This record gives sequence, structure tokens and C-alpha cells, in this order.
Amino acid sequence: MRKSGRFLAAALSFALVLATPLSAQATKSGLSDAKSKKTALEAEKKKTEQELKNLEGLKSDTTAYVKKLDSSLESIGNELSKLGDDIDAKEKQIDTTKQELSEAKETEKSQYESMKLRIKYMYEKGDSTYVDLLMESGSLSELLSKAEYITKISSYDRQKLDEYAATKEKIAEKEKSLESEHAELLMLQDETEAKQASVEKLLAAKQTELQNYETKIASAEGQISEYAKSIEAQENQIKSIEAEIKRKEEEARKKAEEEKKKAAAANKAAQTYKTVSLGDISFTWPCPASGRITSGFGGRKSPTKGASSNHQGIDISAPTGTSIVAAAAGEVVIATYSSSAGNYVMISHGGGVYTVYMHASSLLVSQGQSVKKGQTIAKVGSTGYSTGSHLHFGVRVNGAYVNPTKYVSP
Ligand SMILES: [Zn+2]
Repeated sequence: MRKSGRFLAAALSFALVLATPLSAQATKSGLSDAKSKKTALEAEKKKTEQELKNLEGLKSDTTAYVKKLDSSLESIGNELSKLGDDIDAKEKQIDTTKQELSEAKETEKSQYESMKLRIKYMYEKGDSTYVDLLMESGSLSELLSKAEYITKISSYDRQKLDEYAATKEKIAEKEKSLESEHAELLMLQDETEAKQASVEKLLAAKQTELQNYETKIASAEGQISEYAKSIEAQENQIKSIEAEIKRKEEEARKKAEEEKKKAAAANKAAQTYKTVSLGDISFTWPCPASGRITSGFGGRKSPTKGASSNHQGIDISAPTGTSIVAAAAGEVVIATYSSSAGNYVMISHGGGVYTVYMHASSLLVSQGQSVKKGQTIAKVGSTGYSTGSHLHFGVRVNGAYVNPTKYVSP
């Protein structure tokens, strides 16, 4: 059926929605999908409710028609029962009339017989030929016409005979008319029975129709209740999606706030570096992620074999992989490996000013390359004479190393 197919499709798409994880649906478009699915379900439910209303209208019309047919059948039944009574009465009347007719015939016959006897007696001594002729008459009418000549027959006998014959004729007429009335009644009975049969057939058809409406109504009601359940589930789904979106937004907001705090802290840390210009050069701190100086410039106890006891720069402790940036714009004059400095870079800033960056885990620039101030040039490591992951930062002015913290310090 088309209708149940439509419902099945809606139910299936609904099931698919449920099968998709909530977190994947918790987006503006997921929410909009869920809402439009709910709207579609509501439209289907409304449509089915309209169908139900139509079906109930049809059922009510058919019920009224069935009632009408029932009362029509009842009156046909009454008519038939009356006809049956009439037919019975007619048959009784016919029986009675037949009895009367047979009695009338008997009366007429006995009158005829006694009249014959009287005629015979009267003429026994007269013209025997004539009497014989009379006695040979085959029928009453023949006898009567012959008897016209017999003047001696008593007028009493003649009158009686005529009366009896008339009575017999009258009863016979009556019987004939009763028989015809009886036939008419039987015909009417046949017609009424045919009418009854056709109304019964129509009634049976209408009752089947009524049952069909009832089945369809039950199915529509079932569908409406299924739609209501689906709509309710969809509403819950929408609420869950909305809650999930809210939770995600809250999470994102908290994360953004934390990052803002971190950035502010980092900014604050970056802003704590003090710079003092060297001619027209202004340095930036070469390891923005760390301001921890573990070894200062100048005299010290050598930390490892081969390391200088007169420290020509400062050591900044930072994890391996931390960015090392150019302290100022310039040209890379050395980018290589040495057994003492490890991977290291030297940048010329002009005017006899150089900076040097040692012990890197990797180098990101090469000799002859121009770099901007703050550009990442290498990653912190522990290559060369080194006891741990750190950046050795040195500043050379006019052929001698100077204390870098004179120009940039945390
Ligand atoms: Zn050092």
C-alpha cells in the first residue's frame, strides 16, 4: 500500500538519524536537518489525520445507508409476511368455493334425476316413443329444449332446475376469480422476494464496505500514533543536539579563553625582554620560548671537557626543537657543524656586529641567506660540547665577544 510505504520510508530515515552519532549531528546543519525531519513527520501525520477524517466521514455515510437498507428490509419482510397471510386466506376461500361448487353440482344433478323420474311417470301411459326420445337426451340443455314440447312438466321443476344451474354458474365464476386473485398474489410475492434478495445483496456489499473503512481507520490511527511517537523521539533528538551544540560551544569558549590567557602570558613574557640598541641595531631575544639563562658571560668553571672556562656568550636552557630566531636582520655567514659548537649559525648585521647560535638540533638557513629579525633560523638541541639541550647565544662586536645581556635580556 502506498501509504504504509510512505510511513516506512519516514521511519527508515528516522532510524538513520538515530544511527548517526550525536556528536556528528551536533552542528547547525545537523540541527536544521533534525528540525526539517520533524517538520516532515508532522506534515505526514497531518496528512494521515486528514485521511482519517475522510474515512470517518465515509464510514458515517455508509452506516446511515446500512440503517436505511435495514429498515427497508424490515418493511419488505412485513410486506412478505402480509402477502403470505393473504395467499393462505385466498387458498382457504378457494377450497371453500370448490366445496360449494361440488355441492351445487350435486344439488343440480339430484334435481335433474328426480325431474326425469317425474317425467317418466307422467308419460308412462302416454306416447312411449316420445318418452324414449326424451330419455335418450345426452345433456341437460338438449333435454330442456326437447322438454319445451313437454307442456306437462311442472313449472316448479323447471324453475328449480334453472335456479340450481344459475347457482352453479355463479360459484364457478367466483372460483375462477379467486384463482386469478391467487395467481396475482403469487406474482406479487415473487416480485417482493426478488426485491428482498437485491436489498440483501446491497446490504452485504455495504457491510463489507463498512468493514473496509473500519480496517483503514484502524490502520490510519495506528500510523498517526507511530508518527506521534517518531515526532516525540525527533523532538528529544533535537533537544540532545541543541544541548550537545551548547556543550561544544561552551567548551570552545573555555578553550578560547584559556588560549587568550596563554597568549597574554606569552606576550607578557615577551614584553619582559629588555633591549639596548647597539649602534642602529636593536636585538630581539633569540629564544622566545625561554628566558632561563643557565650560564652567564665571562669567567666560569668549564661545564664539560672542551667547553670554554671563559664563556663567550650566554646559555639559554630550552627543550630540544624549541625555535631559535635571528636576533636582528642580517646575512647568514656561517651555517655548518663543528665538533665544539655543533650545528651553529653566524649572522652578520653589518658595522662589525655578528651574532652566533650554537648546539642546534637542526639548521633552517644556509650560508649567504638574508634573514629578517625574529625569523626562525634553527631548532634548540645539544650538539657539540654540550651537557644538555640549550642555546649558546653570542654577540661579537669589532672582533671581540661581548656580553649579550648588555643589549638584550630577560
Ligand atoms: Zn655556552
